[in-house]
Amino acid sequence: HSKRNGRGQFTLFTRMMQDDNHRIIRISTSIISALENDEFYLVYQPKVNQSGHIVAFEALIRWYNAHLGIVSPAEFIPIAEQSNKVSAITQWVVQQVCNDIDQILGQYGESTSISLNLSANDLKDDSVTGFVLEKIKLLGKRASAIEFEITESAYLKSFQAGNKFFEDLRTYGCKIALDDFGTGYSSLSYLTEFNIDTLKIDRQFVSQIGVSQRSELITVTILEMARHLKLTVCAEGVETLEQANFLIDHGCHTLQGYYYGKPEPLSSQTTDSFLPDLNNSLS
Ligand code: C2E
Ligand code: MG
Ligand code: MG
Ligand code: MG
Repeated sequence: HSKRNGRGQFTLFTRMMQDDNHRIIRISTSIISALENDEFYLVYQPKVNQSGHIVAFEALIRWYNAHLGIVSPAEFIPIAEQSNKVSAITQWVVQQVCNDIDQILGQYGESTSISLNLSANDLKDDSVTGFVLEKIKLLGKRASAIEFEITESAYLKSFQAGNKFFEDLRTYGCKIALDDFGTGYSSLSYLTEFNIDTLKIDRQFVSQIGVSQRSELITVTILEMARHLKLTVCAEGVETLEQANFLIDHGCHTLQGYYYGKPEPLSSQTTDSFLPDLNNSLS
């Protein structure tokens, strides 16, 4: 820092850092009470097949706090991870999905899949994996509707524990998806050792379809590789018809993004907007 405009700018800078720290501390210390006060809720974003029919939903957590306002999971999940509070959140999410599953399967069909996100810390935490397996067991044959999403970097961070946990989950019929694929800097060779069913192509590539030929080539290559590895592929962040058509033309199995639907509470799902109009045809 130059001395000339020093003091004023320095105090502004430190104040900004202090504000950041205050917010991080405030978020971190509010998480447990937020769980107790029911401040978290789930929204569900549809995933559609190549014909545009809803085949799955991803559960995404939301937080509204009177003092902090709406806090994005992109902000509070990393803070929860650093302060060892993500396990409590994950258990809450799993319980909530188990509470919601009958309504979703009843409304969208027994073969509808429901995914939820896990953190790296969850895989190594026996209290979390034990809790999840217990809840999954209670679902009986509905367990095969549940898919767990994990990023490649999170999986790599807890590779051994993750492999074991996912093996256990798969005996109950659960599926595992590698989230944000292509952004984790991990070696492709790990793909053969990961215990997974699905790759989720990161929005970063999808958003460049029609814009960057290189991103298009990477997307096509991921799809081709997944086909050889017999993995299904879901594209995230699909916002335009052009992106959707490109992905479908190249064999992408499911699509998810604002083009098809935003994440919404279960109560406000615009139920069958992408289903064929069979039921309503006579009314
Ligand atoms: P993610 O799992 O990769 O989820 C996709 C994110 O992209 C979501 O943001 C979703 O709302 C957003 N998205 C979906 N379609 C579009 C689109 O067409 N355009 C754009 N611009 N964005 C789209 P969200 O809900 O804010 O979540 C952010 C991240 O926070 C998630 O990324 C996930 O890593 C984490 N997260 C969310 N819920 C949970 C949870 O329950 N547990 C854990 N551990 N992490 C969660
Ligand atoms: Mg996800
Ligand atoms: Mg993702
Ligand atoms: Mg993503």
